[in-house]
Amino acid sequence: MSARNVAPRNIVILTGAGVSAESGVPTFRGPDGLWEGHRVEDVATPEAFARNPALVQRFYDDRRAALSRVEPNAAHRALARLDTEWAAASRGDLLLITQNVDNLHERAGSTRLLHMHGELQRALCTGCGAAPGWQGALSGGPPCPCCGAAKLRPDIVWFGEMPYHMDAIAAAIDACDLFVSIGTSGAVYPAAGFVAWARDAGARTLEINLDPSAGTAMFDEARHGPAGTLVPLWVDEVLGR
Ligand code: NAD
Ligand code: ZN
Repeated sequence: MSARNVAPRNIVILTGAGVSAESGVPTFRGPDGLWEGHRVEDVATPEAFARNPALVQRFYDDRRAALSRVEPNAAHRALARLDTEWAAASRGDLLLITQNVDNLHERAGSTRLLHMHGELQRALCTGCGAAPGWQGALSGGPPCPCCGAAKLRPDIVWFGEMPYHMDAIAAAIDACDLFVSIGTSGAVYPAAGFVAWARDAGARTLEINLDPSAGTAMFDEARHGPAGTLVPLWVDEVLGR
C-alpha cells in the first residue's frame, strides 16, 4: 500500500504569515502589495539594508516591539497541542517549519519548530557571526554582546539570502508521509517548492489557506478558510478525535 493511503507517522507542517493573521500580525503582501506600508525591496533585502540601514532597523524594531501586543491564536494553539500529543503517543516524527519571524508558535507551546527565515527576537553580528537573543531595539547601534562591535542586524533571512536549517528540513521532508502547508501564499521560494519535494517523497499533501495559493494545484487536498477555524479541526482529525 502506498504511503498516501495509510495513517500518517511522520508529519511536516509549513506555516506562513497567514497563520498569524488572526492574531493581528499583518501578512506579507497585503491587498496593497506592501508589507506594513513598505515595498518589500525597501525593507527585506541586503541591498535595502546597505542603502538605508536606519530605515530597515526601525522597520524590524517596530515589528519586534509589536510582538508584545499580540497573542497566539487558535491555529498556533492547535499546532502546539499536536506537537505535545504526537510526541506523547510516540506516533512518529513531527516538524513545524515556519517562515514567520514572529514568536507565536513557541509562545503557544510548539517545541519541534524551525524558523527558516530567522526571528525578530534575535540579532546577527556581521562582525563575529554571533546570533544573540534580542528583545529591544537595534537602532542606535548597540554593541554585540560577544565582540563589542556595533555591527548587529536583524537575524532575518532577506530575499537573496540562504534560508536556515535547509539540511534538517530536507531530511524531514524526505521522511514525511504527510505534508501540510498552512497560511502561505506559495510565492516565496524555496518554501514554495517543499510541496513538490514532499510529493516526490511519496507524502500526502494538504493545503490550508484562506484562498487558493499559487501552488494549490500541487496539493492532494486543499481546504480554504481561516486557519483559526480549519487548523483545530484538522488537528482533531489527525489525533482521531
Ligand atoms: P504571504 O503574506 O505571502 O501569504 C500569506 C497567505 O496567508 C496568503 O495566501 C493569504 O491568503 C493567507 N491568509 C491570510 N489570512 C489567513 C487566515 N486567517 N488563515 C489562513 N490563511 C490566511 O506570507 P508567506 O507565504 O508566509 O510569505 C511571506 C514572507 O514574509 C515570509 O518569508 C515571512 O518571513 C515574512 N513575514 C512574516 C510575518 C510573521 O512573522 N508573522 C508576517 C509578514 C511577513
Ligand atoms: Zn559580534
